[in-house]
Amino acid sequence: EDLQSKYEELAAIDKRHFMHPTTSFKQQQEQGPKFIFTEGKGIYLKDIRGNWIIDGLSSLWNVNIGHGRPELGIAAMEQMKKLAFSSTFATNSHEPVIRLSEKVAEMMPGDLSMTFFTSGGSEANDTAFKTVRHYWELKGCFGKKKIISRKKSYHGVSVGASSATGLPAFRAFPSLAPDFYYVDSQIESLKNLIKEEGADTIAAFISEPIQGSGGVNLPPENYFKEVREICDQNNILFIADEVITGFGRTGKNFGMENFDAVPDIMVIAKGISSGYAPIGGMVISEKLKNELIELSEGVFMHGYTYSGHPMCCAVALKNLEIIEEENLIGNVRNMGDKMQEGFKWLKDRHEVISDVRGMGLLGAIELMKDKDTNTSFEQPLSVKVVEEALNHGLLGRSIIYEGQDTLAFAPPFCINKEQVEKIISIIDTSLTKVL
Ligand code: PLP
Repeated sequence: EDLQSKYEELAAIDKRHFMHPTTSFKQQQEQGPKFIFTEGKGIYLKDIRGNWIIDGLSSLWNVNIGHGRPELGIAAMEQMKKLAFSSTFATNSHEPVIRLSEKVAEMMPGDLSMTFFTSGGSEANDTAFKTVRHYWELKGCFGKKKIISRKKSYHGVSVGASSATGLPAFRAFPSLAPDFYYVDSQIESLKNLIKEEGADTIAAFISEPIQGSGGVNLPPENYFKEVREICDQNNILFIADEVITGFGRTGKNFGMENFDAVPDIMVIAKGISSGYAPIGGMVISEKLKNELIELSEGVFMHGYTYSGHPMCCAVALKNLEIIEEENLIGNVRNMGDKMQEGFKWLKDRHEVISDVRGMGLLGAIELMKDKDTNTSFEQPLSVKVVEEALNHGLLGRSIIYEGQDTLAFAPPFCINKEQVEKIISIIDTSLTKVL
């Protein structure tokens, strides 16, 4: 009773005053908030009406260590008591940002070694685009401005990041940003585009190692090895957007390590702090760093007020420490194998599953009305499955862009065997129920 009236009170205010991100205004007004979360513990979230549900996507693929770790709150408080904020512009600095940049460099593959911090992934991608253009200008290559990205990619919602996003729905409003091009996943398409546009007009190629919001799409075999070669041959910088895949999601520190390619620039966010504080960044290679220093003229006019926020850095450091100390990436490998096996088991049991895919604790189940004739459901089935799964206590995600009808899962790294089994069993029950 009490809980329900508390929900209703808050829901009314929500509808009146809170403009939700990525939402249908109409749906928000008609339905109100589906959940008002009040608490989290491990892989679970609690709703204000008292229900605990499994956070099957680690919220937004970001609460990697799981919910409710007080150590991160303590790290935040200790930092805030000492120094809540100071600028890192120009030559100012502070210890948490210095320590975090060192820690990130230690974890990075290849010679990626210097980090520019932001508040999230979109800003980090914008930073990468501006940095590569600045770099080519310093080199005297004034025409190298174009950014190539992949269809079905997701890079964020700032004007720059959404212009690079290969899911057309996101480009409706920032469509004016020029110099962005999209290729499909065949390596030939990239080669052809470079030939058509001319390498001397292209600044960089950007890709997620595994596309997340586009449907958990793995690259074709050897794709990134070939991308690396093509970029080298054509003087094009290679940016890896590791916002979802970074810091362990695939079972390795970074997603690109699964594909034997080291980018010139890596974009990070989400998992660096497991969502306990808003922080992202762009990491550049030693080579790029040295050239930027050598060629440097004047000031690179780019910096966010919260670039290297002390509290966010302290929280990220504690998060990375927990991941290491508790060998959570080892657990991602073990539980990831178990989850992917579970998906295969589901595929054998359900005719409507046309594909299962993923790596580590990042996975997807593709649904199709008729695999043999490649026929999709008129109404995406994944939406119904997600709804049904909620009735059984599992929060998942349906991805229905570009004709895909996909269920996506990415549970927290702290998940155990029984909990993976529970997720599989709920999907099994839900699939049976909705058909
Ligand atoms: N890049 C990728 C691959 C993402 O998945 C996301 C967010 O989901 C972003 C960038 C944007 O990050 P943010 O929402 O922190 O701006």
